[in-house]
Amino acid sequence: RQAEFAKLRDVPAVTKDGQRITLLTNAGLAVDLENLDATGAEGIGLFRTEFQFMVSEELPRLDSQTALYKLVLDTAGDRPVTFRTLDIGGDKVLPYLETEREENPALGRRAIRLGLDRPALLRLQIRALLAAGAGRELRVMFPMIATVDEYRAARELVDHECDWARRRGRALPAMLRVGAMIECPSLLWHLDALLPLTDFVSIGSNDLFQYMFAADRTNPLVADRYDPLSPPALRALAEIQKKCADTGTPVSVCGELAGRPLEAFALLTLGFTRLSAPAGGVGPVKRMILSSDLTAARRGMTALLGSSSASVRGELETLARKLNV
Ligand code: PEP
Ligand code: MG
Repeated sequence: RQAEFAKLRDVPAVTKDGQRITLLTNAGLAVDLENLDATGAEGIGLFRTEFQFMVSEELPRLDSQTALYKLVLDTAGDRPVTFRTLDIGGDKVLPYLETEREENPALGRRAIRLGLDRPALLRLQIRALLAAGAGRELRVMFPMIATVDEYRAARELVDHECDWARRRGRALPAMLRVGAMIECPSLLWHLDALLPLTDFVSIGSNDLFQYMFAADRTNPLVADRYDPLSPPALRALAEIQKKCADTGTPVSVCGELAGRPLEAFALLTLGFTRLSAPAGGVGPVKRMILSSDLTAARRGMTALLGSSSASVRGELETLARKLNV
């Protein structure tokens, strides 16, 4: 299998009916960077910046944050990298950062909420990202955005930091793209307000479905109780895809979903063309892409979206098999 995937490394991800798919990978530490060449991923669709903070014994300083982001961009070269700002809180705790005990940490002050409540932390990170991205393309996105105002406030911090750097005569990124992760169901009903303010969005399906189904993704008693291959989950994804297409907003999916062939097949039939998968998923998903005919699959998917079942996994497997995927 591994040898088979290695052969696909340099093959462009194009479906049988000629749809070009951008297949990226997720990363979080310097060691993950070797996965770019090893898998043939076209870039990093999700760089989880909190990993550096989690493996560190103290808050990483500006220079060590900048050094890591530079290394990532240098290694990626022409391949795009999307940095996700600190996503701590919830199940990701930092021993050196004092935080209050919370009854429901997954619903608590995590990710962008912490960043906005402690702007010094987020501003330092943005400063490091801007410094690392000087003279080249920099893509930054915010996790766990639940309201348009949170996105606006986070983006304002970026603008402030740009002004700060400009006043000091520092070089800025040649191109800066700022986006939001769609992980909170609330945004689904405010995409019309959010999308015009973003340069791109990325769907964090791990969190989005945790909150849609009210099922803690870290709790084995319920984590696998609900199937993302269900009409409500797929319809939510279809809705986001459609709104993004209508407004011309680039959208990707970067949750674990994007790294599983059958799930990724469902995403493609819904119209997504940009996936960011864990490294181990890149080869299997590439193989699925190469054998897929989306024109034929779309008709089958439309019928599945209308099903009353809690899971259409079986039907989707049958569809994929019928189409030789
Ligand atoms: C997600 O929630 O799907 C996601 C990509 O972010 P993380 O898994 O890091 O929470
Ligand atoms: Mg998430």
